Amino acid sequence: ERARLNRLRHTPAVTLDGQAVELLANIELPGDAAGALESGAVGVGLFRSEFLFMNRGGDLPGEEEQFAAYRDAVVAMQGLPVTIRTVDIGADKPLDRMSLQELRHEHALNPALGLRAIRWSLAEPDMFRQQLRAILRASAFGKVRILVPMVAHLGEIRMTLDALTRARQQLDDAGCAYGEVEIGAMIEVPAAALMVGRFLDHFDFVSIGTNDLIQYTLAIDRTDDAVSHLFDPWHPAVLRLIDETISQANARGKDVSVCGEMAGDAAFTDLLLAMGLRSFSMHPARIASIKQRVLRADTRRLLANVDAVLRAEDPALEAARLFSAAIVH
Ligand code: PEP
Ligand code: MG
Repeated sequence: ERARLNRLRHTPAVTLDGQAVELLANIELPGDAAGALESGAVGVGLFRSEFLFMNRGGDLPGEEEQFAAYRDAVVAMQGLPVTIRTVDIGADKPLDRMSLQELRHEHALNPALGLRAIRWSLAEPDMFRQQLRAILRASAFGKVRILVPMVAHLGEIRMTLDALTRARQQLDDAGCAYGEVEIGAMIEVPAAALMVGRFLDHFDFVSIGTNDLIQYTLAIDRTDDAVSHLFDPWHPAVLRLIDETISQANARGKDVSVCGEMAGDAAFTDLLLAMGLRSFSMHPARIASIKQRVLRADTRRLLANVDAVLRAEDPALEAARLFSAAIVH
């Protein structure tokens, strides 16, 4: 079993009909990069940088500390791409008491709809540029991509790109080295999914955050036990937003990935492949199972079933029925 898993780790994820699929890792701290490599991931699709900011008693990491952390992750990945998401602070990931969150931004009645992620970064422009500079500097050590969480407005895109331009200028002025960095948006708010064509005028790639996309599409708080049974990744509205996002990005020739839990759930692999997805980012522990699923999939046979699943009364049941028939065991 060990030998088989080891072989699997070095096997490229290619479908039966020869479609190459990229399986990437989600990490929370630079120390997770070793496990990501071990799992056979071909890069980091989501580095949740907010974990550098949490659980530290309100003190926040400055540019040098962040730079060291991003550089360590990039170096550990040995030339494979590392996608660093700017802080997704707020909502389910609050800063510690008496930190900036408390001092300046208290009283959120509805934190999931409040000042979180890119909204928080744009409200703290100095800290945002500090983080952007740290990420840019890490790009001198390997392939780095920047991912922006929770974007919903075109205005936020403009402000984000301005901040990035400023950060580059500041590094130029200081004579600091940095490399080419692509910038992408998380698609995790329905507004972003519906606007993805316009968003792609400004971004190099998109990554679908299904956890939040489900929460915001269905108006179900991810963290509220009273409604968690209504958190339904198979809801047709959710599936349609995902399908539309993948199609639009593919039509534009831009990279699209899924980095929410769905990417690591084998029940969705066939459907996502059928929708045209070729990049999945997940917890490293999920990579082996998803790879096995990919190796058995034939996207030509899966493709015909997408509409039936999207139209079905019970998409989960329909997907299980159609895709198990289309899989070559
Ligand atoms: C998501 O929302 O799907 C996602 C990947 O981001 P997070 O779970 O960190 O909010
Ligand atoms: Mg999210």
